[in-house]
Amino acid sequence: MLSLESLLASVRTYLPDADLSRIRKAYAYAMRKHINQKRKSGEPYVVHPIGVAVLLTQLKMDVASIAAGLLHDCVEDTDSTTEDVRIIFGPEVAFLVDGMTKLSHLPYRNRQEKQAENFRKMLLAMARDIRVVIIKLADRLDNMRTLGAMKPSAQDRIARETLDIHAPIANRLGIQWIKTEMEDLAFKHLNPTAFSNLAKEIEKADKPRKKFIAEVKTVLQKEMELANIPAKIQGRKKNLYGIFQKMQATSKRLDQVYDVVAFRIITDNVGHCYEALGRVHSMFTPVPGRFKDYVALPKQNGYQSLHTSVVWTQGKSARHLETQIRTEEMHRVAENGIAAHWVYKEGQPLSPKDERQYSWLRQLMEVQREVSDPSEFIESVKIDLFEDEVFVFTPQGEVKALPKGATPVDFAFSVHSEVGNHCSGAKVNGVIVPLKYRLNSGDTVEIITSVHQHPNKDWLKFVVTGRARAKINHYVRATERQRARTLARDLLERRLRKFKYSLPKLKKAGELDKAAKAFKLSGEDELLYQIGMGQISLEQVLLELVPEDKRVQPRSKDKPDKGGILARLSHPNKMKVQGIDNVMVRLAGCCNPVPGDRVVGFITRGRGVTVHVATCKKVLDADPERRIEVDWDDRSKTLYTVGLKVITDNKPGLLAEMSKCFSSNGLNITEATCRSQDPERATNTFKFQVANVDQIRKVIKHIQKIAGVYSVQRIQNG
Ligand code: MN
Repeated sequence: MLSLESLLASVRTYLPDADLSRIRKAYAYAMRKHINQKRKSGEPYVVHPIGVAVLLTQLKMDVASIAAGLLHDCVEDTDSTTEDVRIIFGPEVAFLVDGMTKLSHLPYRNRQEKQAENFRKMLLAMARDIRVVIIKLADRLDNMRTLGAMKPSAQDRIARETLDIHAPIANRLGIQWIKTEMEDLAFKHLNPTAFSNLAKEIEKADKPRKKFIAEVKTVLQKEMELANIPAKIQGRKKNLYGIFQKMQATSKRLDQVYDVVAFRIITDNVGHCYEALGRVHSMFTPVPGRFKDYVALPKQNGYQSLHTSVVWTQGKSARHLETQIRTEEMHRVAENGIAAHWVYKEGQPLSPKDERQYSWLRQLMEVQREVSDPSEFIESVKIDLFEDEVFVFTPQGEVKALPKGATPVDFAFSVHSEVGNHCSGAKVNGVIVPLKYRLNSGDTVEIITSVHQHPNKDWLKFVVTGRARAKINHYVRATERQRARTLARDLLERRLRKFKYSLPKLKKAGELDKAAKAFKLSGEDELLYQIGMGQISLEQVLLELVPEDKRVQPRSKDKPDKGGILARLSHPNKMKVQGIDNVMVRLAGCCNPVPGDRVVGFITRGRGVTVHVATCKKVLDADPERRIEVDWDDRSKTLYTVGLKVITDNKPGLLAEMSKCFSSNGLNITEATCRSQDPERATNTFKFQVANVDQIRKVIKHIQKIAGVYSVQRIQNG
């Protein structure tokens, strides 16, 4: 157990002028409160909070954090209350202790849920004060170091949780040594055989490796001296768990995991970093693609270093040397991450160069001090620490990491491709959101699926994961081709019938392939696809298939009323319109047709068929040659968004009354606005979802009956 005086001495090394009375008081208070408690090992319980305080001094944390570290189990495990702590130690320490207590009071039903809950609490704790998280990490590291003193039943859970939650958070915060130590301790407990085997193997290779490290160090040191670069050279083993993971991921043996040994050159300034890099590259051949300049482009967590790998040849054998080059200051940030900040906060003023270097940490801390709304701070933390990822939860509490900007569709595909393929809607934290909604860390995402729903081309505009993109593209391309060909076959067959030709016969005779060649296409399938997509016109193909002189003139009673070839198609086989924005059939945005409306279709170049309301202005303007008859597919279950414009008296209460008409008809309003141009009249617009036109008629009738309503009109811009 570390004495109070030694603890204070180590605080003084980095806070020479600080008032340490709160630490003194906290040390004595913890001693007194835990006096009758013993750990399983028989040691007094207080060794744990003191151990935590020692770790916090190694992280060079401030006085309040160290006091809170000493007191962190008092409220939880003794008769002390947060109020007691506040009276004796002040609001700052009490706040930190309270945060720690809350972090450990987590109701849970199963392990997975607890994990998710823990993660969420961690994020929330960060939102309030990042020091709580750092104290928690110190607490957890001390628990892991003394795992044998914990309840045996809890040991596995603690180790697993440390690996799943605490080590990744330490990594995020840039506190490397805590991350690696946690990982190795958890690995040792959870997989003792693998751990000891690997440790033994490394031990075996230890002698030659030590010799190798010494050799390289000497060579590098000499070179740096020659170049007049002040430098400390460190050779280090990578942590066991890191090696283990790498071996598992690449199924390689230990001797094949070449970067078991890595070197570090620590020098005094940035200029010397680049000079040292130049020296290293002129001594050894660099491995292409392995150089990274995190000095010019620091990582978001503030990390800076030059990374390179070079080839070390000795006799016949060649090894890769992984090398990091950095300044002392960069080294401190690399080791202590966000915690490195406190040293500077209370230490001497920074040079302008260092100021820039730590601006990221500084900004984060400033935001934290200024912002009273926790959600605002968590925003900034998320941007800085979770810059490239969001963490969301399944309804079962499982954590999923997705790239930033991910949507419910990305989430759905990450769960299972079938979930993605039939994803029709999503709830985030219990509320329905659009499929293009950008997920935030901490969101709980539930996907609504429907057998009628299929991937949509529009989804490609907002998904961000490669997996979702690939799956959607695959589906879209396959259906697009298939539908285009079906459409083309249909059109061609009926057109040919007029000239007493049969498509199957032409096909058998190889005429279709021949026609395809004439258009420089690979074959019949491609030809049909191009026709269906509107890239090649039917008339052009007919010229190839049916020589002009062989054409039987249609009899006069077959003459179409408005002339277009497609209008002549026989009625029983109208194209069926199934839903919104199908790959080959889309509903015109100008007139918003819904089932029940009389509709016509137009073949649009490269886009299949667009369906308009028969009375739409665009229909009159369109080329009759491209017209095609279409009809609604009764089996369709799709919901369509439509709009109503209602002119009313300008009096309160009307909006509510109108809204009631929708709900009593079982319709969902997605958007409602009310504007009054003059004191007498108000214009209301409603957007809502229907399955067919009857539902619109019904609700219009209802609204018209309300006193004070002048006119109700369906919004159709066409
Ligand atoms: Mn504890």
